[in-house]
Amino acid sequence: MTTTTTPANFAELGLISPLLARLTELEYQQPTPIQAQAIPSVLAGRDLIAGANTGSGKTATFALPLLQQLHQAKASEPKNAKGNYVTGLVLVPTRELAKQVADSIKSYATHFNGAIKTVAVFGGVSVNTQMLALRGGTDILVATPGRLLDLISSNAIKLDRVKTLVLDEADRMLSLGFTEELSALLALLPNNKQTLLFSATFPEQVKMLTQALLNDPVELQLQSVDASTLVQRVFSVNKGEKTAVLAHLIKQHQWRQALIFVNAKNSCEHLADKLSKRGIIAEVFHGDRGQGARTRVLEAFKAGEIDVLIATDIAARGLDIEKLPVVINFDLPRSPADYMHRIGRSGRAGEVGLALSLIDYEDSHHFKVIEKKNKVRLEREQVEGFEVDESQALLAAAKPMAKPEGTGKKKRKNKPAPVDDFWS
Ligand code: AMP
Repeated sequence: MTTTTTPANFAELGLISPLLARLTELEYQQPTPIQAQAIPSVLAGRDLIAGANTGSGKTATFALPLLQQLHQAKASEPKNAKGNYVTGLVLVPTRELAKQVADSIKSYATHFNGAIKTVAVFGGVSVNTQMLALRGGTDILVATPGRLLDLISSNAIKLDRVKTLVLDEADRMLSLGFTEELSALLALLPNNKQTLLFSATFPEQVKMLTQALLNDPVELQLQSVDASTLVQRVFSVNKGEKTAVLAHLIKQHQWRQALIFVNAKNSCEHLADKLSKRGIIAEVFHGDRGQGARTRVLEAFKAGEIDVLIATDIAARGLDIEKLPVVINFDLPRSPADYMHRIGRSGRAGEVGLALSLIDYEDSHHFKVIEKKNKVRLEREQVEGFEVDESQALLAAAKPMAKPEGTGKKKRKNKPAPVDDFWS
């Protein structure tokens, strides 16, 4: 495993001039650590496993070498057989990420002047347009697993000539229940290919996948959160006062582009209502909103037209919102890994961001687990005017935790709200 080193410049990584010119236009001054460490190996054809979050620059890490390899292959074999084939396949867990990755690839390919075709396919929208886009095949296909299988079964695309496979956010793909779809897809791929796997975490399922799939890979484990570009803070609040504290903080700091996480779709609406009563206009982003509405909200948020966006965890992954200054955990995420995904939305590529968690006494134990797993220990702060009433916590601690055994069927009191689930 390698850790962060001083990045070289892009030219030293072996990238060709059409890509370098584009990176200059995009004002990428130097490679991020993952780019510096991985790009030369990927260009050399090695398999790769990288522990990397959104914000690490992982998209360019696979996109730049992939584009270069395709460009060079086209130059040496100009008369490639036409057909519904794809050469570089990028699998991603969500629609938003599919679009975002495809847009990044197209942007990096600007100076290939249309010679490299990239298509994104994902569920939730009409399949016909995607079938049309796939006519004659594509050089790069960015796809969510479910929709890709549909397109394969209707013969819109074939995987037999894939030369590079990228699994982006592999942990998320598996945790969202795409295991069967992935196995079906992997079975359709040729054995002889380059495989690049990116994952924020490495649970057992991902480890098994890497063992099955990768051949003598280069392994990179990078710091998931760069402490120099992200400040994590925790505010202790009284139960029932989170909304008041949040509204106070938003007004006090005049935050623009604050992303607030809650755990359920209806909590988005509730919180937005409560904030609006306090004079703060917030938009919501969750799986019950149609694709069109989600795209519009996201565009407005990116453009800075919306100051406060309340979202479920679907927004924690893959949304390319640059320079996001503030991410707030209004509800704590269920898992320590989700905490990292959420706060990874902030402090990206050189910008300093703030990741703030509001915890009441009921959240306190869970937050300790999050800290322990993520190997951080944060000071509990209080907000002036909203000081914590310690007696609340003491009273709660004095309450019996569970019914004694044998007093009848145990009821699950705090049944978790359904996970926001609209992945395709
Ligand atoms: P990613 O981790 O791929 O989602 O990238 C996060 C953001 O960082 C995207 O907005 C990229 O455009 C940007 N980015 C990626 N690499 C660099 C770089 N070397 N310099 C500046 N920005 C970058």
